[in-house]
Amino acid sequence: VADVAPLRPVVGGATLVPLVDGSRVPYANLDVAASAPALQAVADRVTQVLPLYASVHRGAGYLSQVSTALYETARRTIGAFVGAREDDLTIITRNTTDSLNLLAGCVPAQPDGEPGRVLVLDVEHHANLLPWQRGTDATVLTGGATVAETLDQIREELSDAAAAERPFALLALTGASNVTGESLPVDEIVAIAHEYGARVVLDGAQLVPHRRISLETTGVDYLAFSGHKTYAPFGAGALVGRRDWLDAGTPYLAGGGAVRRVRVAGTEWHEGPARHEAGSPNVIGAVALAAACEELAALAPADVAAHENALRRRLVSGLEAIDRVEVVRVWADAVDPVGVVTFTVTGYDPGLVAAYLSAEHGIGVRDGRFCAHPLLGRLGFDAGAVRASVGVGTAGEEVERLIAAVGRLVADGPQAGYDVVDGLWVV
Ligand code: PMP
Repeated sequence: VADVAPLRPVVGGATLVPLVDGSRVPYANLDVAASAPALQAVADRVTQVLPLYASVHRGAGYLSQVSTALYETARRTIGAFVGAREDDLTIITRNTTDSLNLLAGCVPAQPDGEPGRVLVLDVEHHANLLPWQRGTDATVLTGGATVAETLDQIREELSDAAAAERPFALLALTGASNVTGESLPVDEIVAIAHEYGARVVLDGAQLVPHRRISLETTGVDYLAFSGHKTYAPFGAGALVGRRDWLDAGTPYLAGGGAVRRVRVAGTEWHEGPARHEAGSPNVIGAVALAAACEELAALAPADVAAHENALRRRLVSGLEAIDRVEVVRVWADAVDPVGVVTFTVTGYDPGLVAAYLSAEHGIGVRDGRFCAHPLLGRLGFDAGAVRASVGVGTAGEEVERLIAAVGRLVADGPQAGYDVVDGLWVV
């Protein structure tokens, strides 16, 4: 795939990074699943709106009105990008973690006052696991070896709970795994969950940047995602979904902006997004995320999928052709995985592989257990693995560099000496 060009320019693509031999090479950023570099158009928009920055909502000055309009327009753009229904709320958060913690505070209690029940799989990122263990009653299901088996397990768990009159309020599921890029079929999941009265929240951190998802057409009830994985800078994310739980739930943050009226004797909280957005909001972050949504919306979804699929397929086939390399999979029959490929190299610690790729080849990847300890443990990768990930800004040549570099490691070993210092592999 050496001649595959990025679909859209991103910032930082031409950065030269130093290698141990003293030379410099263009940085190959194959860690976009952790944080994707901003699209050039996003950087341009931020530069354009920064001078217009002023306090929002209650400011009477002209620029305050402009800032307020920018913020509220960004909210609508972000919601529209994920197919928000007319009555859905789009709440601007810090990131996916924030969005899921917010929703966890809004899951209704059971009729007897016990916390609402949430069903979750062990494949999840900790951000979609730990919030449900706080304040809601989480059941963590060990997923099956195939998609079909996992869907059956989910159905059985939901149906047993409904029959026992302890129904689940919510099924919390990854839109795409941050370890393997795989996912469960959204339409089927929604149909199963709704049949047993459970709502569905998708952790869209790895889905939204790579595939178009519409709440309206899929029936997904809530979607959480992060700006910094969606080609915008850090600090803004979103929770989009059904209004009733959000309007009735505990305000996520207590403070100015979330209240209609405060008396010493008690507080009257807002409904709508403001209820959960106390404090001065991240206007520039929201505008940047909206700009990224506009840029992605201008691309044909099939083109994005084709670009990333070509790179992913090459990564998998190139890596699997190397002796001692194993690619991690969750579901043997998963369809249409996004551009995330996790692998191990027998005989080399994942931390050493990642340090070697950086120091000797200028390639950025991630190693470890990817905030998915239960999954890595179940699959037998407790010592961690290495993850390469691609997006619309990735060039085929970067993927070829990674495959060649891993091949060199297996054939010749690392050329520099590596050591662990404070838990990190360094030259
Ligand atoms: N879910 C998934 C699937 C992720 O990949 C990540 C980030 N690694 C998160 C949730 C958490 O995202 P954030 O750190 O932006 O809150």
